[in-house]
Amino acid sequence: MEVSKVKGIGPKALSLLSKIGISTVDDLVTHYPFRYEVLKRTNLKEAEEDAKVIVDGRVESVPILLRFKANLTKLNFRLVTPDGVVGISVFNRAFLKSNLTIGTNVIVIGKYDKKKNVITASEVKFGTLGNHERIEAVYHLTNGLTNKSMATYINTAIMMNKEGITDYIPEYLLEKYKFSNKRTALNIVHNPPNMEKLKEASIRLKYEELFAFMFKINFLKEEKRRQDGGIERHVTKEELESFIKTLPFELTNDQKKATFEILKDMNQNTKMNRLLQGDVGSGKTIVSFLAMYINYLSGYQSALMAPTEILAIQHYYNIREIFKDVPIRIELLTGSTSKKDKEAIYRGLEDGSVDIVIGTHALIQTDVIYHSLGLVITDEQHRFGVNQRTNLREKGILPDVLYMSATPIPRTYALTIYGDMDVSIIKEMPKGRMPIKTKVRKENEITLVLEDMYKELQQNHQIYVIAPLIEESENSDLTNVLELRDKMRLAFGAHYKIDIVHGKMASGAKELIMNEFKQGSINILISTTVVEVGVDVPNATMMVIFNAERFGLSTLHQLRGRVGRSNLQSYCILISDSDAKRLQVMEKTNDGFLISEEDFKLRGHGDLFGTKQSGDMTFKIASLNQDYKILIQAKEDSLKYLLDSTKDEDLLKQELIQSVHQS
Ligand code: ADP
Ligand code: MG
Repeated sequence: MEVSKVKGIGPKALSLLSKIGISTVDDLVTHYPFRYEVLKRTNLKEAEEDAKVIVDGRVESVPILLRFKANLTKLNFRLVTPDGVVGISVFNRAFLKSNLTIGTNVIVIGKYDKKKNVITASEVKFGTLGNHERIEAVYHLTNGLTNKSMATYINTAIMMNKEGITDYIPEYLLEKYKFSNKRTALNIVHNPPNMEKLKEASIRLKYEELFAFMFKINFLKEEKRRQDGGIERHVTKEELESFIKTLPFELTNDQKKATFEILKDMNQNTKMNRLLQGDVGSGKTIVSFLAMYINYLSGYQSALMAPTEILAIQHYYNIREIFKDVPIRIELLTGSTSKKDKEAIYRGLEDGSVDIVIGTHALIQTDVIYHSLGLVITDEQHRFGVNQRTNLREKGILPDVLYMSATPIPRTYALTIYGDMDVSIIKEMPKGRMPIKTKVRKENEITLVLEDMYKELQQNHQIYVIAPLIEESENSDLTNVLELRDKMRLAFGAHYKIDIVHGKMASGAKELIMNEFKQGSINILISTTVVEVGVDVPNATMMVIFNAERFGLSTLHQLRGRVGRSNLQSYCILISDSDAKRLQVMEKTNDGFLISEEDFKLRGHGDLFGTKQSGDMTFKIASLNQDYKILIQAKEDSLKYLLDSTKDEDLLKQELIQSVHQS
């Protein structure tokens, strides 16, 4: 129901409300207070001279209005409070006079002049504090809208007939949990009589919100499960194992486990929808190559999508190396592939002669036609957002899907965002890895940093240096890549090769530099965060990051993950003059999971997943951080409700299902 139907909301209020996203009655009544103000009665006898006090009582004398020059007015009256009679002075609010008739109950907040027994009021409200205290809702507002008018609109809307307000909790669950009806709960949350009732009502509304959310997630998951047409493959464990034996290293147990989970999925006649999660450097790539091998043995095409071209190129070279003895056609398709090559690759994909194609996610967005696409792999999934599945579905192809992500996702998020996926986790690092040593340094300690760098260079190890900017900028004194190149060349240029790579370079040039760095002919590579994800150069043992305060902890962790990829001791140096406390988290731990939780606490979830997803994750009253238990219960209950066919006629159930298709 439109919010204009609420009594008292005219065109002006309508436009103000729309500014803060309120257009329906539902929006209005779920515009929850962002905090509460607790007004507690002060014991005047114990109050100190000039203390801020809150009292309530009855007006005992007709207010006297005094006028001074220059628009100054003062209203004086006596108030009978539980602690005795006290004088009240209110400045410049003459208009209150007519309402302050004898016997009126008011709450006064102000400064107490104990000697004169007078309170100079900063606020006068009508009503009483009840037995102990009064809790007031404080709302997010916009210019022109007062807290009071907002409260009035909301309360009017709640009191109106209940049509505009949908309750998403089915009857039997309301009974089971002895939840109040929705209007009662809303009324309490907006006008809490006490903390206990407020808590009760919030839990009920949180549960409802999470119930509706999890219902959708569960519905999508079930829908996917029901869709037929999954590819049933017949690859044996032995076939796969004999290929694994040809790899240049032994897989870790976690890698093996993930690989066989994938094999099982792919051999089943239902579609795989699996997230492969593992900290940076844990070795996810090889697992994805093995998935492609399974797919290849079954005669299907695979597509591997990387978030950056640099990464796509790296995967391309790696996979060619891994499959060098397998008669398989692998192609690289990026923005800089020549038109002629592109056309040849398109043809190969259409006629089936290309087995594996590696590129950026344009691979599934353009009009590429596949002969028999059986597997799509997405690297660094957190970079993309969640919409690619829809892309695939819209193209009418439903291959098996494997997502890889290094962003460790707190369990609540895994449950919600990835609630419709199976998850494999690689916890174990490849054998022989030493934890990276991390150190935070001040800018004036640069000589110490250079000394540390020199030690690594002398041992023929390579170094990444990161700066937040590419070039000098008028409105910022952050370190930039070009400036660092000149400085580093001055310090080390006589003996070592120093070069740069950044996002504004043509991709051919980028590729060239990355290759030289990989081959070891560049000793120091200076760049922006383009190397953040995935780049793999085991001989690089030092990561130096300038203006480290500019980066989120998760980003820093990703950057740091570029080193420590061999048995060599690696180092990470964070240079910053501010934000020391936050950066110390990096010194203390190499555990990406802890770091992402810390990041989350500091920056909220929006940042963890990129803006695309944050929209889906915004709850009005529930907080995934705090309401984990409610979430679990809501997940379980909503699944039961969904699967219970005797409830299929429920109007509520039908409405919930409809809302899935709308969003
Ligand atoms: P990420 O999980 O961050 O994508 P990669 O797949 O890039 O990590 O692997 C990091 C490095 O570890 C690569 O150089 C890779 O070849 C190597 N590696 C992967 N698995 C193993 C293993 N089981 N033993 C030794 N090295 C491994
Ligand atoms: Mg990777």
